[in-house]
This record gives sequence, C-alpha cells and structure tokens, in this order.
Amino acid sequence: MEASVIPAKVDVKKDKSLTIVWADGVTSSFDLAMLRCVCPCAKCKEERTQSKKSLLRVLPGNYTDDLKLAAAELVGNYAIRLIWTDGHDLGIYSFVFLRELGERMAK
Ligand SMILES: [Zn+2]
Repeated sequence: MEASVIPAKVDVKKDKSLTIVWADGVTSSFDLAMLRCVCPCAKCKEERTQSKKSLLRVLPGNYTDDLKLAAAELVGNYAIRLIWTDGHDLGIYSFVFLRELGERMAK
C-alpha cells in the first residue's frame, strides 16, 4: 500500500470529528455529520439514491444534530468502522475512500 492511504495516527473525537494523520504527513479531518452523510454502506447508498441526493455531497445539512459516535474500530489494515449512537454500524470507511474524501474537501 502507498503511504498516502496508510494512517499513522487516528484520532476519534466521538462527539465531533475524526482526524487521520497519514503516513505521508498529510492530515485529514472529517466532521462527523459529513461522514454520516457519505456513509458507504449499502443501506445509506440506497437511501441517498432514493432521495436523489448526490452521493458525493459533502456539505453537512441533513443530519441529526446530536448524532455521535459510539465507537470506531479498525477493520483489518484497510478501513475503519464507525458505530453511531443511533445504532447504525454498517459503515466501513476504507482508508482509500477517506483519503480521497480528504483531498476533495481540501480543494
Ligand atoms: Zn450507512
């Protein structure tokens, strides 16, 4: 794997954000509401398709204000699973996906 998709440090603030420092020195910080908006699980993808919202919409907007993380756990060495306080635990965010998301937000 390339250094750009290997996390050197993962910092989870359960009521606020997820920050990843990549092995190549770049830092990506994600707002939790935004991460939920782009949840890559099949169920959320389907809901987004049905509501005709863009899959790549990254601006927070449609979310519950008090939604927080209950836990975050690594999946192998390629992804992180986010478990939300509303019980949703299907979202597995690959580091490739998160790195791309970070790059897109930085523009
Ligand atoms: Zn989901």
